[in-house]
Amino acid sequence: MSWDISKMGDWKAEDFPRGAVIPDAGNSRDYVTGGWRSQRPCRDDAKCTQCLLCWIYCPDSAVDVEDEKVTNFNLEHCKGCGVCANQCPSDAITMVPEGCELPEVK
Ligand code: SF4
Ligand code: SF4
Repeated sequence: MSWDISKMGDWKAEDFPRGAVIPDAGNSRDYVTGGWRSQRPCRDDAKCTQCLLCWIYCPDSAVDVEDEKVTNFNLEHCKGCGVCANQCPSDAITMVPEGCELPEVK
């Protein structure tokens, strides 16, 4: 997903909803933040010990977990902050620039 920024110079504040508004508890899933991302996390399953620290620390709840195991990253909401990669004790997460080939996972 990417945003069309070709006419960015013409953008006006009234074209966008007001930011940082939390009208209801748990409404972060209503805001798609993946368009902010310039890097994405890539997890090496061979290094991952399934400690779930990335899931705990992700500020956007963008780490998908099934049966108590990390399965993927939700790129609709992952904004590429790199917190998961910084917190991972096993160096299992690499941040890679958007648009480049994902590194081969061993
Ligand atoms: S890069 Fe940031 S938003 Fe994306 S999964 Fe990691 S901690 Fe969450
Ligand atoms: S923090 Fe690292 S080792 Fe722990 S579940 Fe996430 S990717 Fe796997």
